Amino acid sequence: MSLRGRSVQLASWGRFPVTPTELLRPARQDDLLSLLGERRYAALIGRGYGRSYGDAALNAGGAVVEQTRFDRLLAFDESAGVLVAEAGLRLKEILETFAPRGWFLPVTPGTKHVSLGGALACDIHGKNHHCDASFSSYVEWFELLTADGRIRRCSKAEQPDLFWATAGGMGLTGFILTVALKLRRIETTYIGVDYARTRDLDETIERCEAEDHRYRYAVCWIDCLATGKRLGRSVLMRGDHLAAAELPAQLRKHPLTLPRKREVTVPFSFPNGVINPLTVRAFNTAFYYQHPKARSGAVVDFDSYFYPLDAVLEWNRVYGRRGFIQYQPALPLETSRATLIKLLERLSQAKIASFLAVLKRFGPQEGLLSFPMPGYTLALDIPMTGARMLAVLDELDELVAQAGGRIYLGKDARLKPRHLEAMYPRLPEWRRIKQAVDPEGIFSSDLSRRVGLTPAS
Ligand SMILES: Cc1cc2nc3c(=O)[nH]c(=O)nc-3n(C[C@H](O)[C@H](O)[C@H](O)COP(=O)(O)OP(=O)(O)OC[C@H]3O[C@@H](n4cnc5c(N)ncnc54)[C@H](O)[C@@H]3O)c2cc1C
Repeated sequence: MSLRGRSVQLASWGRFPVTPTELLRPARQDDLLSLLGERRYAALIGRGYGRSYGDAALNAGGAVVEQTRFDRLLAFDESAGVLVAEAGLRLKEILETFAPRGWFLPVTPGTKHVSLGGALACDIHGKNHHCDASFSSYVEWFELLTADGRIRRCSKAEQPDLFWATAGGMGLTGFILTVALKLRRIETTYIGVDYARTRDLDETIERCEAEDHRYRYAVCWIDCLATGKRLGRSVLMRGDHLAAAELPAQLRKHPLTLPRKREVTVPFSFPNGVINPLTVRAFNTAFYYQHPKARSGAVVDFDSYFYPLDAVLEWNRVYGRRGFIQYQPALPLETSRATLIKLLERLSQAKIASFLAVLKRFGPQEGLLSFPMPGYTLALDIPMTGARMLAVLDELDELVAQAGGRIYLGKDARLKPRHLEAMYPRLPEWRRIKQAVDPEGIFSSDLSRRVGLTPAS
């Protein structure tokens, strides 16, 4: 019997946009093969846990194929640290299984509720991009089910074109079935963190340039509402995994303990407008001064350092039913400072407040559509307030494009197609590979049609 879908109104983490689609939750590989064979749907796209913010895993008029039931651990090579698992497995389960055994994710985003397939399709970056690059660098190989029903094994040596078109390829080359990922050895589940407050953007950038290379993980929280002399003031939060010998005596007995956090849930959608310039200004000022001017060697469990937001389940409800947008540009090093100033000034002038604003140094990156580039990335969570706010973000896109930067497709909900080719200069190569593995364009999504990665209809 063929797999039945449900007609739903679907959104991802930002709760914007909401799209009518057919949602399928296959449990067997045969279901995926039948879907491709039957051609019941005009378009198909894979989905993990919907933690991309915008419309990458949405498909109006087509079907969204949620792959979270493919979540088995298949093999682990203890000597090489290589884990083989189905693509629907969550990073959370990997951490819970492997951190107590002394292994950690080589790259992790700011939430562990994402799947291996989603991590590869977005080629996610973590706080260590400046020294360790992105997720795909640690993928030894993966298996991809392409539109013709073939399962192709891809690595950096075997079908490398398809490897680099799929890493960061937003699910548009096929269904990722299994992923072989090289984990990182750790001696403890703790991070040694140095905190420092900076006065303004110049000091923030100066210190990132001079000091980030000393840390495996480096991120700055930035006060996006500060203006004038304080524009770009930040709290730098940088650290590395602690060795067992570096732990305080009371933690040394159980160095690989899993952090146990009480999770709370936001029980309902807050009214629209709770996140506004007033509440954000109050929060930002408190957050800035809550951190000492400088503090080094804080011992922090990995949950608190990497996933502070995961302690509050469904925190996206705080933004109300209209949802929010994550605006994340990356900027080349040469133009970063000047463009960041323009972006922050324009946002502040338009009274667009971001509750969470993060600045991070990126290193080089392979991958035809991968987002990072050597320079800086700024990530802002902006409440969805309507056309005026969207028009300001369009203006910011112009600045980003002129500066040689790009917008992260894995979080986007509103980029216009006119910027895509300039932002992703390897797009023609990617299109050639897409055409070769999916000549009829079976795999497409709201995102791909909106920005012009695939034809609009
Ligand atoms: C709080 C928070 C913090 C975040 N921090 C970061 C960060 O620091 N760095 C970063 O890079 N990202 C970050 N993200 C974004 C997130 O890591 C990515 O969007 C990730 O891809 C989501 O995984 P998912 O399983 O939910 O995928 P989904 O959101 O369901 O899908 C994302 C994309 O992957 C494709 N896809 C998913 N599974 C498959 C599959 N099996 N086969 C083919 N394609 C598939 C989809 O088609 C879609 O294009 C963050 C998100 C949140 C909510």
